[in-house]
Amino acid sequence: MIFKSNSNRVSTMNLLDGKKVREVHKVQLIEYIKNSKDLPTLAIIQVGDDPSSSLYIEQKKKFGQSIGVRVLHTKLPGGVSFEDLQKIIQTLNADKKIHGIIVQLPLPKDLDPQKVIDSISPNKDVDGLTSSNIEKLEKGFVPATARGILTLLREYGLEVKGKKVTIIGRSKLVGAPTARLMEREGARVTVCHRQTVDIPSETRSADIIIVAAGYPNLLTKDYVKEGQVVVDVGINTLSGQSLNEEIPSKKVVGDVDFEAVSKIVEYLSPVPGGVGPMTVLSLFENLIDAHKMCNN
Ligand code: NAD
Repeated sequence: MIFKSNSNRVSTMNLLDGKKVREVHKVQLIEYIKNSKDLPTLAIIQVGDDPSSSLYIEQKKKFGQSIGVRVLHTKLPGGVSFEDLQKIIQTLNADKKIHGIIVQLPLPKDLDPQKVIDSISPNKDVDGLTSSNIEKLEKGFVPATARGILTLLREYGLEVKGKKVTIIGRSKLVGAPTARLMEREGARVTVCHRQTVDIPSETRSADIIIVAAGYPNLLTKDYVKEGQVVVDVGINTLSGQSLNEEIPSKKVVGDVDFEAVSKIVEYLSPVPGGVGPMTVLSLFENLIDAHKMCNN
């Protein structure tokens, strides 16, 4: 399936519409689930009360429900010990009815996230974040955001092989796995971060730019040129004033100066509606892959 239409064109630019792509892939997931003997089941563990985490979990539960899988949400107090958390994960590891387990990040400071994640069985690690999955990217689960970005590009017929891909951000969750995946797909990858001296020269010389910094308006018009593909991963919540001054409004934006950059580049993913929906989709694609592995 390739989305090449200009129906969403803003000036000369094509939107990389994650919502639209997700709807198409969703149909395939629903079809698989309808025909499977047992119900694919995802266990989500939340530690503490981080409001963004609660929101992301709700989005995952909602999407899971809409495709007909089971999503079990275990909420633990912020002060839970590593040993108790590990016991819960081990019980889920041993439960044949559970096909995927994720621990919602970030965790409270007292818990070492990698140590917690590494308690998940690699066969159920549908976030692709255990050390063992990271080592075997070829065969293991690809972290959802990285997988979602690749699917989005593919659906618009945008080949990464042989292309220069510049990624801003090198986190374990997004930047690093996206870089590994793009390299695996044959791209020439450059990773930029806070210490990179001249990011604009790295972005302007790229075919594809992926921004995952968590810094609003980082990618301005000076970072881009015509014909490029820009994928905006950032999710930033800005507080502003609504028309009613008593009620402050919140606006979600990415890392790209959308207004200015959309006038120059050829493809751009919006925020919201770009990578976000693809990340949720990819998590459930990983879950279905885990379910298939269990039943083979
Ligand atoms: P992080 O804070 O762990 O990592 C940010 C990375 O960006 C770091 O490597 C840092 O060096 C780099 N960076 C930050 N500011 C920079 C700057 N001004 N110049 C150059 N490099 C800079 O964050 P993360 O978990 O990787 O998430 C990044 C963003 O993506 C956040 O906004 C997050 O909310 C968002 N996110 C979106 C999705 C999605 O589905 N759309 C999924 C996960 C994360």
